[in-house]
Amino acid sequence: MDDFIFIQANNPMWPASANIFAIKDDDGWILIDVGCGLRKFTKLFFKKLEQLNLNIKNVHTILITHAHPDHMGAMKAVLKKINPKIIINEIEKDSALNIDLLNKSFSIDVMEAYFKSNLFESPVIMPDGPFDINKFFQFICSMSQLPADIEIQTIKDDEIICLGEYKFRVLTTPGHAPGHTSLHEVNHQFLLSGDIIGEKGVTWYSPGSGGSKSLLSSLDRIEKLPVKSVFPSHGNKFENCKQRIKEIRHKILQRNELILEELEKGPKTLQNLVKSLFGSTGTKLIGVVIVESHLRELERTGLIERSDNLIKKI
Ligand SMILES: [Zn+2]
Repeated sequence: MDDFIFIQANNPMWPASANIFAIKDDDGWILIDVGCGLRKFTKLFFKKLEQLNLNIKNVHTILITHAHPDHMGAMKAVLKKINPKIIINEIEKDSALNIDLLNKSFSIDVMEAYFKSNLFESPVIMPDGPFDINKFFQFICSMSQLPADIEIQTIKDDEIICLGEYKFRVLTTPGHAPGHTSLHEVNHQFLLSGDIIGEKGVTWYSPGSGGSKSLLSSLDRIEKLPVKSVFPSHGNKFENCKQRIKEIRHKILQRNELILEELEKGPKTLQNLVKSLFGSTGTKLIGVVIVESHLRELERTGLIERSDNLIKKI
């Protein structure tokens, strides 16, 4: 696989850039994701390409796995150098062209309501006006949107896309982002899992990104595929795909159990449950919408009810 390069980010943890993949074809190079838009990250990205003797001028196509800042924030810097064709899932296209839409998939309304009523817990200074996810990311891992006139090829679930000599099945795997895309190479049987299966931990999810329900369905789908190795968007390559899926599924389902156990003791507020599941650290910023995803699912399945900010087990 000389024509497939895994360009690993120095730091596996967000907000560092996501890993990048480069595939060579007869016309030059195809990149999968470009990383985050902060200057220090884009400089590093261009330096890495140089070290690989990969001239950015020879990149003719960029596939974006999903419209998140650590995957496509560097597009602005890239587009100053080249004018590539963009490939993106049809569901993610609108967010990539208008990054204000990310407020919806990040369920910013839920975070805003939570932190405005629990100000002392907020890891950021809450603005007077509406909380905007891109302003928040600006100094951590900045985002850039695609210009309206760029050439875009949309891809959809289950279609086959050939990049160089590699034949990928497109898997729309929501949960972490509405049109999050994983790519399964059908001949070599490797998976570019994006953010939904990493070597460690469990990805972030919110009601607007598809929530726990979509994430579990995405994992079920991938579990059925023959996968010899996984190249995630964060961290190292790994082999034990099925084992990791089991662990991630267990962790997600365990969150439902933990919520129900807490509610067994009596009605709770969202704040109580976030504290039980995520403690009292800065992880609350991610925890609020994760807990909210579970609550919506538990409510939908008739296991809990909510009234006057109180959540009760039925
Ligand atoms: Zn992401």
